[in-house]
Amino acid sequence: MTEAPSYYKSPTVAGYPDVSYEEKARLFDEVKSDIRFSDYLYGCYECGICVAACPSARFYDFSPRRVAQAAAREDVELVYQQMQEDIWECSQCFSCLRCPRGNNPGGIITIMREVAINNGLASAKEALEGYSRIIYKIMSTGTQVSPDMLQPDAFPDWGPETGDVSNNLDLWRRALPSETLHTTSTGWDVSDKTLVELYLIWLHTGALDMIADVDTSLHSILQDVMEERLEEEGIEL
Ligand code: SF4
Ligand code: SF4
Repeated sequence: MTEAPSYYKSPTVAGYPDVSYEEKARLFDEVKSDIRFSDYLYGCYECGICVAACPSARFYDFSPRRVAQAAAREDVELVYQQMQEDIWECSQCFSCLRCPRGNNPGGIITIMREVAINNGLASAKEALEGYSRIIYKIMSTGTQVSPDMLQPDAFPDWGPETGDVSNNLDLWRRALPSETLHTTSTGWDVSDKTLVELYLIWLHTGALDMIADVDTSLHSILQDVMEERLEEEGIEL
């Protein structure tokens, strides 16, 4: 086994000694080979501006600076550790784009998440476990949340803001651009043409295959729903 560079972090310090260095390096290579990577990382001043802007850094043991630094230093062990832990704390708000070096730590995390999902990493399965119903709704109807779903009892972990929405539904409905998004019954009423287009997008972009890597039962349910619909429309795959 090739050892990690000793000047920075040993595999035991970084953790996950049961995964070979070669496998960790292969995953990092996959991250670096993404076409967006070179545009998201230009080195790091270690100024911490991204950390100051990052909402997740306030609530978790998480730092966009660490993510940018690990990638810039090509620290294979730490990048792997982050793919199994840190990257799921990011809320993808992209406030870290104010980096004076021109980095996009949130973008690097997006790539790392995609690689984690495509390779069926345990962290990806765990992170997406609670979202099966949401993924099912988004992929089968093209939409998910409408204001009338936001009841405090259904989302206790979202804090008092959900009560604010449910108590002022009329106002929130007026704030939404399209009437069809105002309630679940109208929001989930999507035309057959749109659904077919969506299903073809999920199929041809590989989004459906990504689901298969992390949740096989959800994948088969979605596949059944989509195949039935495409068959009804006379579309052969
Ligand atoms: S995109 Fe992620 S890393 Fe960047 S500021 Fe938002 S939560 Fe933090
Ligand atoms: S803002 Fe940019 S340069 Fe500064 S610590 Fe964050 S990634 Fe590095």
